[in-house]
Amino acid sequence: MADIQHVVNVSGGKDSTAVYLRAIESGRPFRAVMADTGNEHEATHEYVARLHERTGGPQVEVVRADFSRQLATHRAYILRVWPTQGIPQHVVDEAARLNEPTGNPFLDLCVSKGRFPSRKGQFCTDDLKTTPIIDQVVLPMLAQGPVLQWLGIRAEESAKRAEQPLWNHHEAGSTLWRPIFSWTVEDVWAIHRRHALRPNPLYAMGAGRVGCWPCVNCRKDELRLIADVTPEHIERLERWEAVVAAANKHRMATFFAPINGDILPIRNVIEWARTGRGGRQFDIFMQQQAGGGCTSDLGLCERSAA
Ligand code: SF4
Repeated sequence: MADIQHVVNVSGGKDSTAVYLRAIESGRPFRAVMADTGNEHEATHEYVARLHERTGGPQVEVVRADFSRQLATHRAYILRVWPTQGIPQHVVDEAARLNEPTGNPFLDLCVSKGRFPSRKGQFCTDDLKTTPIIDQVVLPMLAQGPVLQWLGIRAEESAKRAEQPLWNHHEAGSTLWRPIFSWTVEDVWAIHRRHALRPNPLYAMGAGRVGCWPCVNCRKDELRLIADVTPEHIERLERWEAVVAAANKHRMATFFAPINGDILPIRNVIEWARTGRGGRQFDIFMQQQAGGGCTSDLGLCERSAA
């Protein structure tokens, strides 16, 4: 029987890094993989790219989703159907032009869907993370033999995560293992110290979680931090909102889901996050946010610190 092949899912956050370090300590050969969503802070990419130099572990392989096929299908639909619906030709032409691949997975996914993901429609985790990792890494490995995926999920992160098992089988055919399931945050930092490895610098900047910057599920305080320390990322989201809006029939798209029916561009949400304007319904909306919660059983999106 073929040997078990080990693969560690890395996000650049503290928990998946702890699993990577735990895999090094196990002495087993393993692969490490990260899905680049195109919506991370550059510090996360730099941190992951240098992890092997700083630890002696394997270089993290980076996979990206490719939405060329979906964009081509959407573009053909726009050119064929929109003119029959009375949509002005200049709108059709602009939308068709924007449904070309940019090479940024997050933006291409949103353009192909005509909208941004949201807590209720969180297609980003599967489309940007789970599917590329499974298709590009796990399935080819499964063709060679059994695969064990090491996941950075801890029970104390949330009640929902605490319900997950230590082991289970993934529908792709691999086995999922949560080797730090019972660890505390202190255990996570302890293994970083043991390897003299500094955590992702975003934590020192005040981030409670590492992943998309921002996540569609981010909390008010996280959003305020991102706007304060990296305003260029908010400018990027403003550009993305304009592109996704121009590429869909309703000519409207916002990074955050409507709040009590109000469709708010990112600038307005930031203004509210800084000043508290917007009142109680906004606060309720953001307090209900899962804080980077990920519905995938691969736990590929880190949760905020409580
Ligand atoms: S971190 Fe947030 S925005 Fe990014 S893929 Fe996960 S749920 Fe989606």
